[in-house]
Amino acid sequence: MANVAFIGLGNMGGPMAANLIKAGHKVSGFDLAAASRDAAKADGATIAATAVDAVKDAQVVVTMLPAGKHVLGVWSEILPSIAKGALIIDCSTIDVESSVKAHELAAKHGVASVDAPVSGGVGGAKGATLTFMCGGDDKAFATAKPILEAMGKKIVHCGKAGAGQAAKICNNMILGISMIGVSEAFALAEKLGLSHQALFDVASTSSGQCWSLTSYCPVPGPVPTSPANNDYKPGFAAALMLKDLRLSQEASKAAGAATPLGAHAEEIYAAFDKAGHGGTDFSGIIHHLRELASKR
Ligand code: NAD
Repeated sequence: MANVAFIGLGNMGGPMAANLIKAGHKVSGFDLAAASRDAAKADGATIAATAVDAVKDAQVVVTMLPAGKHVLGVWSEILPSIAKGALIIDCSTIDVESSVKAHELAAKHGVASVDAPVSGGVGGAKGATLTFMCGGDDKAFATAKPILEAMGKKIVHCGKAGAGQAAKICNNMILGISMIGVSEAFALAEKLGLSHQALFDVASTSSGQCWSLTSYCPVPGPVPTSPANNDYKPGFAAALMLKDLRLSQEASKAAGAATPLGAHAEEIYAAFDKAGHGGTDFSGIIHHLRELASKR
């Protein structure tokens, strides 16, 4: 069992740190927010006065922060105090460029590093069923794997530094585009007098089949566990989908890829967010499509 420092104990980081403790690791944590620190303390973490204090005896450091600037800021602050030969894992979803920079910073301090963004949301963080998409060298990944296994059920080594972030934003670009596609089909079916169930029964067993339809159907009824049956409460908030679509567009521009549907999906989610629906589940985008139709 390891001494783990955990920085960023929010909606995701809090339950992830709690699962490390349940698995027998010793966790020293830090967060800027008092409420997050108190919740982690109640779960059995030792709370340090600063991020630097938290990492002093750590063999493994995990960060779970909002964006690239926070990760680079925190890593710059703590790396000089992390033991040489220790491992640092960033589980935040951030831009590929910042992720690669963070790996370079770690290497300068003799600290092994892995980017390991997650899929599975708060439910997956609580239930230790997250999927981790990892980037880094083989040795760093091998050290990270048993730690990540305490917080998730699928740990995938995607390639070199930054490859985990690349996998995450490519996957979520597919998800954003496919959710809009499925929602457009239901919105069109409504206008054509076709019932939700009839479209679902056909498309779910035909070539239109995809996760956004069969696991996360954007209309109530056909998939009882989808957020559409719970007044579109997240789930996965539209604001987070917009964040990931923005990251995929930044990466696409920097790498010189052509992703026109990804760009359009970003615009559609940006309009939904601007209208005040960032806290709605991302499948609520169907409301936006119906509203567009009403303005025609
Ligand atoms: P959150 O806002 O609940 O938690 C982030 C925490 O970081 C906050 O508690 C904040 O106080 C803390 N923080 C910020 N700057 C800090 C600093 N300098 N030092 C210490 N603590 C600091 O966000 P979250 O939902 O837990 O998301 C965390 C990351 O996980 C994000 O990158 C997000 O995109 C990603 N993610 C979230 C979900 C989800 O469903 N919430 C799903 C997949 C991935």
